[in-house]
Amino acid sequence: MKQLNNNTAIYMRLSRDDENYGDSVSIETQRTILTQFAKENGFHVVDEYVDDGWSGTNFERPSFQRMMDDVESGTVNCIITKDLSRFGREHVMMDYYLEFYFPEKKVRYIAVSDGEDTEKGLSDFVPFKNLFNEWFAKDTSRKVKTSLNAKFRAGERTFAYAPIGYKKHPDIKNKLMIDEETRWIVEKIYELALLGNGSAKVTKLLIAEKIPTPGYLNYKRYGTFANIYADAPEEKSWSWTIAQVKSILRDETYIGNSIHYRETNVSFKNKHRVRKDKSEWLRIEGTHEPIISQSDFDKVQGQIASRRRERKDSTTQIFAGLVKCADCGWSLSFATKKQCKTPYSYFKCSRYSSLGKAYCSGHFIRYDTLYAYVLSRLQFWSGQAHMDEEKLLKKLLNASDRETGVIRKKQESNLKRAEKRKSEVDALFARLYEDWVAGRITEYNFNMLSAKYQDEQAQLDEQLKGLKAKLNETRQTVSDAEKWMSYVKEAAYPTELTASLLNTLIEKIVVHEADRHEDGTAEQEIEIYYRFIGKID
Ligand SMILES: [Zn+2]
Repeated sequence: MKQLNNNTAIYMRLSRDDENYGDSVSIETQRTILTQFAKENGFHVVDEYVDDGWSGTNFERPSFQRMMDDVESGTVNCIITKDLSRFGREHVMMDYYLEFYFPEKKVRYIAVSDGEDTEKGLSDFVPFKNLFNEWFAKDTSRKVKTSLNAKFRAGERTFAYAPIGYKKHPDIKNKLMIDEETRWIVEKIYELALLGNGSAKVTKLLIAEKIPTPGYLNYKRYGTFANIYADAPEEKSWSWTIAQVKSILRDETYIGNSIHYRETNVSFKNKHRVRKDKSEWLRIEGTHEPIISQSDFDKVQGQIASRRRERKDSTTQIFAGLVKCADCGWSLSFATKKQCKTPYSYFKCSRYSSLGKAYCSGHFIRYDTLYAYVLSRLQFWSGQAHMDEEKLLKKLLNASDRETGVIRKKQESNLKRAEKRKSEVDALFARLYEDWVAGRITEYNFNMLSAKYQDEQAQLDEQLKGLKAKLNETRQTVSDAEKWMSYVKEAAYPTELTASLLNTLIEKIVVHEADRHEDGTAEQEIEIYYRFIGKID
């Protein structure tokens, strides 16, 4: 009984794409088929691997990776899936596993309903099936897009939940209608903005008046996000964020328009979403009844734009974008306390100010304290640069070496791996050529496989080029340190801070929560990460 020696992995995959293909095979069904097959044929099942919600064009699926680790370590030497497309839908990778990797690792692979078994030799159709599966994925993604386009142009919207102020039309599919119970919330937000309040102020007022948030309203009506709201303290139901208010104030839905394609997938193989340029958006006007008038909307947009300009010009904002919270990573926001005898400016964690103390703590620091500390550090380094350039450069290189050493090692091993694969492909190609000359394979098969090898060679060349460039970048460290030193030297013992000086020399400033001692004194850690060279203080 040879088969009993097979240490078998049963692998199951389901993604939302599969539903579009019409072959939605639930994980449960796959499990039943696979378990029964293993039992009837005497396979020893070591483990099950399930990727639920992962596309077949992506091979970075977590359980798939875990299974491959088990193949690497020798725990698994047989893999069974329901069909080839469960394993994957991208033909170069599929062929890589089926033709090179599995034979090399002596792994047996079986696709039950396709009747494929590497031990019995794969059928000649397999490469075509893989191509077909990939084509299917591409075609479906195109079809979905086309049909959406037509729907959008006809004024339809697709949405899981209507934006606050609206609800789903009861009779017409994909259409919005005004929700009389919540439209006042939208009207109130615009009203407050029209009175001259910025988004932060509007947010504060909504919280003060305990106005329910869209998330909470959806929970009340449809029970969504019960995990967030069910046991949450009462305050959660009015915990508005600035981002939420901003997005409502910018949303053209409220003047009756529908905007599509704000984001896009990079390609059908890659599910990363990127925000598109405004010019590429598809704007369909008058798809539903507006809540806000065009003139009010335009006024609010004008206010948002001018407030942004003002903030940019303001001299006190020299630290803008540089100061971060050590605990949550959000920016510290700048404010001025005017209602006291000697007004002063300060920073505090923006996550704390908008979400409250359950999310972070104040990380309060006075503007003048931060200013004095940063200035003193820049004065120190500039002094060092003038005194002994050589010594400073040595110190800088030591500090950055520790950080970049790890990254460089990883890049070098990636490069080695790609180079190894390249020479493997070269060797396979040479062997293929010999086989053809010797008449062991047909010209047709030779042409087909050679095209595939050449594709992979081209891809590897591209990859190698990228990896080498990255590695060179890391090797740039020396010149980076020199660059920073020349900048700090140029600053020539600065006596004041400017936005341009800070942005030239500093990457970010991380502020920790102050440690308050019993005797009333306090200690607060401030970390400065310098551009090019990181932390050196
Ligand atoms: Zn924080």
